[in-house]
Amino acid sequence: RMAESIKVAVRVRPFNTRELERGAKLVIDMQGNQTIINHPKGEVDPKKFSFDYSYWSHDGYKEDDEGYMHPEDPRYCDQKRVFEDLGEGVLTNAWAGYNCSLFAYGQTGAGKSYSIVGYGVNKGVIPVVCQKLFAKIEEKVVANPKDEYEVTLAMIEIYNEQVRDLLNPSTLKIKGGLKIREHPKKGFYVDKLTYHKVGSYESIEIKMDNGTKNRTVASTAMNATSSRAHTIVALSFVQKTKEEGQQAMTKTSVINLVDLAGSERAASTGAAGDRLKEGAAINQSLSTLGNVIAALADVAAEGKPPGKSKVIVPFRDSSLTKLLKNALGGNSKTVMMAAVSPADINYDESLSTLKFADRVKRIKTVAEVNESPTE
Ligand code: ADP
Ligand code: MG
Repeated sequence: RMAESIKVAVRVRPFNTRELERGAKLVIDMQGNQTIINHPKGEVDPKKFSFDYSYWSHDGYKEDDEGYMHPEDPRYCDQKRVFEDLGEGVLTNAWAGYNCSLFAYGQTGAGKSYSIVGYGVNKGVIPVVCQKLFAKIEEKVVANPKDEYEVTLAMIEIYNEQVRDLLNPSTLKIKGGLKIREHPKKGFYVDKLTYHKVGSYESIEIKMDNGTKNRTVASTAMNATSSRAHTIVALSFVQKTKEEGQQAMTKTSVINLVDLAGSERAASTGAAGDRLKEGAAINQSLSTLGNVIAALADVAAEGKPPGKSKVIVPFRDSSLTKLLKNALGGNSKTVMMAAVSPADINYDESLSTLKFADRVKRIKTVAEVNESPTE
């Protein structure tokens, strides 16, 4: 059992219309795997961070006839490259029976959904992972018709600390949301959450579209269509196989895909009244996430064997961190995509995202293959 660092990627997008209209200046630079942020007025020294990947998607691209954005300049990083670096590993690990988590962090509008879900032909990591998973299942079933594969999907939202099952509309109105309970061995889980068997990428897409429609959407001055909630899509992948002359085995892998709410502070989005309360609660989950990450980085710095640290990690302080406990501190191979705006007007938010990502990369998790004889 080897402790492994969480893989961290940072990506910078093109200027958006709002930034262009305000004559925004570019403050992000990337060199190799380094991301550099320059102070808009040069009052503070540039800050340099290294990550597993620093993805330049700001300029140097060309759209093809279908609208796919591909490199014109080799520096530009397209969706295909992000999939090869991050998605391919998720797939390999899922087939090997590891739990995997991919989460996206950053200010609203910074490019979280673009990277992990994608828009139109610029498909993000999630759809491509799903497509390739089913393509390989089909191949395997042809080769070994007796092997069984099952994929189930669950989709939740955490909004104001309340958990909702996005694939079960009848529960959306339950006061206070669904309960998070704790199993002595399996850890935290959402009580009464529905898991849906899916047989193709298309059926996942339909379910995720329906789930997205059920999300709580509140407009902010930053981005009229942005969700202020955290969304978690959980794919559970079960493989029942039997090798000639050997015992039948079952491998299970849970793939958690987490699109976090915008990391900006409520104050900078012009929120007020109810919206402020909502912002505060979002910050409860996000600030607890920050505390959990800081504590886990301390645990990693001690370098003690798993479970031997005395550092208290406050997983219990928010709904989000309870449900991400495995992804961050436990049995999971985890990848984080941090998205930043290129513009000077977002300097403070981008810097805080880079600092957050810098702490995440210090965390180590210990993943185990989930395999046992078939019952
Ligand atoms: P978030 O999910 O962080 O709120 P989005 O992913 O929705 O932000 O991105 C906001 C806008 O910026 C979208 O219109 C999206 O198409 C665009 N965008 C984000 N990242 C990129 C990118 N890497 N390349 C091109 N456009 C991008
Ligand atoms: Mg989004």
